[in-house]
Amino acid sequence: MQAAMRTFTTALAGLSLAISTADTQVPSDPRLLRPASYELAITVDLAEQQIDGMARIRLRNEHPEPVGEASLLLYRLLSVRAVRDSTGRPVQFQQSVVTFEDFTKLQVNHLRVALVPALGAGQETVLEIHYAGHVLGYAETGMAYIRDRVDTAYTLLREDSYAYPVVGYPSIRVRRRAGLPEYSYVARITVPATHSVANGGRLVERIEEGATTTFVYASAKPSWRMDFGIAPFGALRRGNLTVFHMAADSAGAGRIMDAMERTLGLYTRWFGPLRGDSPFAVIEIPDGWGSQADATSILQAAAAFRDPKREDELYHEISHLWNVRDTEGQSPRWNEGLATFLEDLATDSLYARATMDSTAIRYARWLSGRVQADSSLHTVPPADYGARNMTDWSYSVGSLMFYSLYRLVGHDAFSRIIGNFYRQYAGTGANTADFVRLAKQTSRTDLTAFFDDWLYSTRWTEVVSSAETSRDLYARYQP
Ligand SMILES: [Zn+2]
Repeated sequence: MQAAMRTFTTALAGLSLAISTADTQVPSDPRLLRPASYELAITVDLAEQQIDGMARIRLRNEHPEPVGEASLLLYRLLSVRAVRDSTGRPVQFQQSVVTFEDFTKLQVNHLRVALVPALGAGQETVLEIHYAGHVLGYAETGMAYIRDRVDTAYTLLREDSYAYPVVGYPSIRVRRRAGLPEYSYVARITVPATHSVANGGRLVERIEEGATTTFVYASAKPSWRMDFGIAPFGALRRGNLTVFHMAADSAGAGRIMDAMERTLGLYTRWFGPLRGDSPFAVIEIPDGWGSQADATSILQAAAAFRDPKREDELYHEISHLWNVRDTEGQSPRWNEGLATFLEDLATDSLYARATMDSTAIRYARWLSGRVQADSSLHTVPPADYGARNMTDWSYSVGSLMFYSLYRLVGHDAFSRIIGNFYRQYAGTGANTADFVRLAKQTSRTDLTAFFDDWLYSTRWTEVVSSAETSRDLYARYQP
């Protein structure tokens, strides 16, 4: 999730100044439910530039206490017409367009649905939300990349613009604390027959009815977001891979497909085959709309279809297919460090280059400067970055950790560690301690001091600050 988290967290990071002064109205514990699954049915009227949607959401209470209200967010110009329970009975609700309490430029429709009786601990309920209206983006808030709209040229429906009901509370702080959800989905998106719908899930069905076509997609992996691009796409398919592209960019689409195949082949050789079939899609979006990724797809700005040098995002995202489900509540997200390091390793391997050492020392020098400027890097060990909202650092600090591990144990042992971890935990999920234990078992080099420095303490800051060459990052752990 390269661009995804970067865009999300960058958008949030930019807000931190505004947040610190104005969050007194946020209740100390808004009891947000967790979405377990979504069924979406959206009809897109391109001529009228509006959508008409239904979201049936299975919600779970993961709190120890009963919860009496479901809190959801929708785009400010989408209004709710009805809410029903699982039997189709109307349910009481309130909606009001409000501003985020700690981001006053961001307006949403805040939907509150009374749960009667309250939803007990560990219980689930289903709400069916009928809504309709317009989506015009959020560029005016300063989040310039959210240019999402409903339009014949290009339509984008995604979480960033609340184009479907998102479980949440109008507060950046609360949304951050809640972390990312994980759900399955089935989505039926109906569009004019001139257009098609691009999504990273499995295409279950395509129903043509006169002037419209309905695309039915089902999630292929647990997801934290749903993205739907709607345009007169061309689609290039090979095996499980799809590239959705605009007509003018078919040459770039072929190049991206080739790069995806090469990258999958490389990782399969190193880490072993993926379990089951793993569909993966690249979806072209207009320039400036913010490239990002979910579990099985990338929204990729048009520029990357025209510039062959932008392939490292693919190396990054495709490596995430070998990640196992993260069972930590507030994960330090070291997978992002691994994916960032694999951008360099894949580049060197595919293009017979040797850039990873120079990249590592360049990263180390940059981090060394950051360490001087940011005291939290001295006090919070990388294993706690999730709990302390510092996962932006997991990309850079984590990539140096994985670079050092790679140089310390060598290519074969490194590949075995990543591959064995995937094979052992792909079915169950795992946490950071599981990874450390498996790495120690797999490697013949004693990794205790290594992980103590790079994960469980802030001693990595001293290693980075004193390193004169890339070798200084890992040589101290060699037997
Ligand atoms: Zn990533």
